[in-house]
Amino acid sequence: MAKIVIIGGGWSGCSAALTAKKTGAEVLLIERTDLLLGLGNVGGIMRNNGRFTAAEENIALGAGELFEVTDRCATHRNVDFPGHRHASFYHVIKTEPAVRRLLAERGIEFSLMTRVTDVIKKGNKIAAVTTADGRTFEGDVFVDCTGSTGPMGNCMEFGNGCSMCVLRCPAFGPRVSISEKAGGHDYMGKRADGTPGAFSGSCKLEKASLSAKLVRQLEENGVAVVPLPAEMINESKLSKKVCRQYALPQYASNIILIDTGAVKMMTPFFPLEDLRQVQGFEDARFADPYAGGKGNSIRYMAVAEREPSMQVKGVENLFCGGEKSGLFIGHTEAITTGALAGHNAGRYALGEEPLILPETLAVGALLTYHKDDGGMITFAGDEFFDYMQRAGLYSDEPETIRKRVAKAGMEGIYNAFL
Ligand SMILES: Cc1cc2nc3c(=O)[nH]c(=O)nc-3n(C[C@H](O)[C@H](O)[C@H](O)COP(=O)(O)OP(=O)(O)OC[C@H]3O[C@@H](n4cnc5c(N)ncnc54)[C@H](O)[C@@H]3O)c2cc1C
Repeated sequence: MAKIVIIGGGWSGCSAALTAKKTGAEVLLIERTDLLLGLGNVGGIMRNNGRFTAAEENIALGAGELFEVTDRCATHRNVDFPGHRHASFYHVIKTEPAVRRLLAERGIEFSLMTRVTDVIKKGNKIAAVTTADGRTFEGDVFVDCTGSTGPMGNCMEFGNGCSMCVLRCPAFGPRVSISEKAGGHDYMGKRADGTPGAFSGSCKLEKASLSAKLVRQLEENGVAVVPLPAEMINESKLSKKVCRQYALPQYASNIILIDTGAVKMMTPFFPLEDLRQVQGFEDARFADPYAGGKGNSIRYMAVAEREPSMQVKGVENLFCGGEKSGLFIGHTEAITTGALAGHNAGRYALGEEPLILPETLAVGALLTYHKDDGGMITFAGDEFFDYMQRAGLYSDEPETIRKRVAKAGMEGIYNAFL
């Protein structure tokens, strides 16, 4: 039985593990922290705008398990908020244990608190990866799902310092790019002014630190929109954030909160003294990143050059998914790219031709889409969502989406080897 080793246990790594397992391989998922889901432990917004279509396409393709979990763990479903329709919000505390149980049930082995630091190559292939604590893991095929965030030095140089985010680099050690270690080439995303990387676009507040009235409103509606006094409006923050789908004027003139079990505040950072001037926020405290009053994590620091099959250019048996595989923003985008990477890692092990997702599907179009300004892309808004609508790829009807996947000959393709 072939062995597939996936490095990085964020949404993309978990997704890759599930599809790789379905090809009949033995699968090991290696994660440097004590939690799966990586950045997925913050965030929580699913199914907004084109992400609805992408979720349903993945379900029809046979990669529905993680969407089933996020739907089941949703605090609110089918919510509209500024610039976004039919969103659901998963509970950011309850989802990680649910994913961990799912992976264990599927027979996926995982090794937490294990940081890969190097590769051992034989010719143009990786034979094994080695870890910070001196262990060696051999495999037939490898998938780099290490993300693009940090480590601390990048957040210091290109952000406002380590913001103490959920990735906890000081405790668990820095991210390592497996693709570069293996001889591939990584590139960086850039902000409009050319600065490398971009600030993550939201922070988590402690629910108990907000007024009871605000919390009630948030829990009832899923969303709260709190207008900011004119002197606090800072539109310059919009150009710094990763999430172009939220770089809309409403996000500068209001505080927009989302109920993900925690309180998600849709801005990269907000000085605490200023925040506490706003009604309802008098006692506000940041929960993630802890330094959300000053900065946020810096992302898109290491994106691998790859083929449409998700194979890393220049390394025979290495695939990649998630933010590692493109300037993709989001959980849905990570699950989508991870699913294809894991599936094609399995095909490679079986000696089969890789699967290429057709551009008649939103999930296929995403993989080859290029933004002229070299910026980040997402199903949820901005340029790529406009493209989806123009090209007739967007739908919010599951049956229509399923039929489109079937017409492309792709229904259940990820289950082809079961
Ligand atoms: C604050 C914030 C809010 C967000 N909100 C949303 C939202 O509401 N909706 C949405 O769709 N998206 C949101 N996103 C974006 C989304 O979370 C990411 O785009 C997506 O989850 C990235 O997944 P990934 O698997 O590519 O990378 P990551 O989540 O970064 O996972 C990479 C994993 O690899 C591990 N790793 C790195 N190096 C090594 C190594 N050498 N050895 C072992 N393990 C390693 C890391 O510890 C990490 O767990 C948000 C992001 C942030 C930061």
